[in-house]
Amino acid sequence: MANFWEYKTLYELTRNEWEQLCDGCAKCCLHKIEDEDTGIIYSTNVVCQYLDIKHCLCENYAQRSVLVPECVTLDSDNLEQVYFMPTTCSYRLLAEGKPLPSWHPLLTHNKESVHESGNSVRGKVISELETDDLMHHLTGEWD
Ligand code: SF4
Ligand code: SF4
Repeated sequence: MANFWEYKTLYELTRNEWEQLCDGCAKCCLHKIEDEDTGIIYSTNVVCQYLDIKHCLCENYAQRSVLVPECVTLDSDNLEQVYFMPTTCSYRLLAEGKPLPSWHPLLTHNKESVHESGNSVRGKVISELETDDLMHHLTGEWD
């Protein structure tokens, strides 16, 4: 049987299918900074205080949009927001008509594969509680 994300559109997914699509990379939890002069957005190695850095999981998933107003709760009603997600984000890839990457847990049947392949923030970031100066933590242009 074909994989659900290959024959369904993002609008047709059940809630469970939608949640399964998230690869757990937590790149969407990184702080970003926009250069007001150029409009270029830069990424940092600093994440939201609610991210459990060791396990790469949100500690307050159900309350995330209340606790962190800028935390986008992506769903089929606000898909235009998907372009603020990283280029490897599953939702963005499918919205752009691209396949899931080979390391995606849905393909590997292993939740660790996103980390083991180096495609998550695990082991690469600090919490926002550990710094008050994001400018010292720029990692390059946000793609
Ligand atoms: S960037 Fe996309 S795939 Fe990665 S954790 Fe965020 S929502 Fe999930
Ligand atoms: S509230 Fe949770 S999902 Fe939202 S940015 Fe923070 S850690 Fe990530």
